[in-house]
Amino acid sequence: SAKFSAGATALLRAVQAVVVEHESELGRLDAIAGDGDHGIGMRRGVDAAVAAAVSAAEAAAGVDQVLIIAGEAWAEKAGGTSGALWGSALCASGRALGNRERYSPDDAVGVVSAFSRAITDLGKAEAGDKTMVDALLPFVGTFIATYRSAASLQGALSAAAAAATTAASQTAELSPRRGRARPLAERSLGHPDPGAVSFGLIAAGIARAYAD
Ligand code: ADP
Ligand code: MG
Ligand code: MG
Repeated sequence: SAKFSAGATALLRAVQAVVVEHESELGRLDAIAGDGDHGIGMRRGVDAAVAAAVSAAEAAAGVDQVLIIAGEAWAEKAGGTSGALWGSALCASGRALGNRERYSPDDAVGVVSAFSRAITDLGKAEAGDKTMVDALLPFVGTFIATYRSAASLQGALSAAAAAATTAASQTAELSPRRGRARPLAERSLGHPDPGAVSFGLIAAGIARAYAD
């Protein structure tokens, strides 16, 4: 229904606001041991995703199609590793949601799991490789555990975002084993992984948007 398509678009706008606010910071972080394009890449990706979602929702697409079209636009326009990963995660979330008349809060567990699995299936990174996966896995684990015990979507999102943010800072201690930063491992030590940091910031932004 139109309500869920509008909800997906609003969520993407919340992601966009976070990326716009932190674009230069993410670029500087990626310049330490990467190629410096994480801010601009995320910006291009999310801008394209929001534009695609808005036109899909205007054309009365279901929430699944809104997310799939947004994910395809993100991957295509962002370029880079993180763009492919975010894009495929959005597409997988859309497929997991489907297009139904009603959803229960339990469907959120399925979406979060599908989002996460898409990233680990495509990128093949494991915990400790110093990638966004080091923020993603604590997010998913905390989300599911908190949701199961408290049954509050808002509470689970806030707790999961806090876990992702903490885990993202802790990647500073890690040495990169994936992606562009690997050959520059010594430079990266002491600095958090850009993709983990952006994931933590976005998770916090979504939790705030959901609380409003
Ligand atoms: P690129 O490295 O292609 O320039 P970005 O700078 O936008 O792309 O994104 C870099 C981020 O992508 C890294 O900080 C890391 O979090 C993430 N990343 C890189 N490789 C992988 C991977 N195989 N699996 C998951 N995340 C990855
Ligand atoms: Mg980069
Ligand atoms: Mg790049």
